[in-house]
Amino acid sequence: MIKVEKIFKSFGDLKVLKGIDLEVKKGEIVSIVGPSGAGKTTLLMIMGTLEKADSGKIYIDGNELSKLSEKRLSDFRNKNIGFVFQFHQLLPEFTALENVMIPALIGNTSYHDAQKRAMELLDMMRLRDRAEHKPAELSGGEKQRVAVARALINNPAVVFADEPSGSLDSDNKVELHRLFFELRNKLDQTFIIVTHDEHLASITDRTIHMIDGEIID
Ligand code: ADP
Repeated sequence: MIKVEKIFKSFGDLKVLKGIDLEVKKGEIVSIVGPSGAGKTTLLMIMGTLEKADSGKIYIDGNELSKLSEKRLSDFRNKNIGFVFQFHQLLPEFTALENVMIPALIGNTSYHDAQKRAMELLDMMRLRDRAEHKPAELSGGEKQRVAVARALINNPAVVFADEPSGSLDSDNKVELHRLFFELRNKLDQTFIIVTHDEHLASITDRTIHMIDGEIID
């Protein structure tokens, strides 16, 4: 599903990625761990099309990303890629249900279909009774689960998550772990998760260790 070939990236004089090669199979859940500054988020952003590499190639589901124009890349991202960030980044003026629906509406799904799919996902996240609440009325863990539902609404091939449990207390972390564990049986998405959370890493199929811009294990 994902193939990364010899990715290099620098910010000024700082070499952040030093020739990354990586392959991830369809449906695999992979965690990326390593010390702060290792380049994990930069690699995630490059694979997720939000940042450009200096050199190297990325293929997602057979599409070489550098061959796509900006417009096609933006369509590709909306259809094929979901994101979950450390801080949920929900829109405060909209309800949980509306937040989940937005990427589907941008992708020209009808209102009725977007609403139906969003409710199914909120149900899967055990949030059916929170659907009409705005983010300010939800707990940290609930907001993060809404963000996971939003990442899944367009049925993306790949979901990239950057420290999804990083802002949660231990109870909410456990709930998110349980959810990821359940999702892997219910969904065929490929997940790439950058995390410092050892328990979350331990329930993924494979853990990649990065240090100083390289994969060491
Ligand atoms: P990690 O996720 O492993 O903590 P990052 O990929 O966030 O590592 O960052 C790797 C290095 O690149 C860090 O030293 C960081 O300060 C630097 N860096 C990341 N993004 C930028 C940027 N947009 N501009 C300049 N330096 C950056």
